[in-house]
Amino acid sequence: MSQSAFSSLKLQPALLENLTSLEYTSMTPIQAQSLPHILSGKDVIAQAKTGSGKTAAFALGLLENLDVRKYRVQALVLCPTRELADQVAQEIRKLARGIPNVKVLALCGGVPMGPQIGSLEHGAHIIVGTPGRIEDHLSRRTLDLSHVNTLVLDEADRMLDMGFSAALDAIIDQTPRDRQTLFFSATFPEKIQQIASRTMRDPVKVEVESSH
Ligand code: ADP
Ligand code: MG
Repeated sequence: MSQSAFSSLKLQPALLENLTSLEYTSMTPIQAQSLPHILSGKDVIAQAKTGSGKTAAFALGLLENLDVRKYRVQALVLCPTRELADQVAQEIRKLARGIPNVKVLALCGGVPMGPQIGSLEHGAHIIVGTPGRIEDHLSRRTLDLSHVNTLVLDEADRMLDMGFSAALDAIIDQTPRDRQTLFFSATFPEKIQQIASRTMRDPVKVEVESSH
């Protein structure tokens, strides 16, 4: 069996079957390097260029951890923009197809709060959102992060560049201390090291060099 075969990982059969039907025949390099650590429950900082398949790396990790019978938020993915959050939510839904009743909800600004609050009342397993709107829900107490097992900062470098550092700290503070924390980024500036040292426990850093 190839080292880069998804079947080398401890993934539930429904996810493996779905990967086959999506024609994800082998892991990309960042997936192959990060997924074993992610699935073992470690905190991970993963750095690889755009288009390298970072979304599926964290999505498979959080889907594998999910208990669909429990209608509460078990994973939170933070993204810098609404467009990226929508893309990530779509990719997670695509990867979750084989698992019945997984509810993925995108919470971003630029749209009214009311329908989002209504959706939250119906329950969601996975939230994908932008820091501003997530903070807004937290301040209105319409979002409960106390059962989050997996917290993901996607495009962490861009979120920090956009000035979301304080918002990220405030959001992370509402999640359980014993959560798994995953950072995905195209670059690794000092600012990421700083927030990692505040929020991660003994993180594994994996990096795929971009070819020039
Ligand atoms: P990144 O976040 O690193 O910029 P994405 O997660 O958006 O990259 O993935 C880029 C594209 O690669 C997406 O269209 C995704 O569906 C596809 N993809 C991801 N992993 C695989 C894989 N193992 N096999 C084939 N396609 C993949
Ligand atoms: Mg990405």
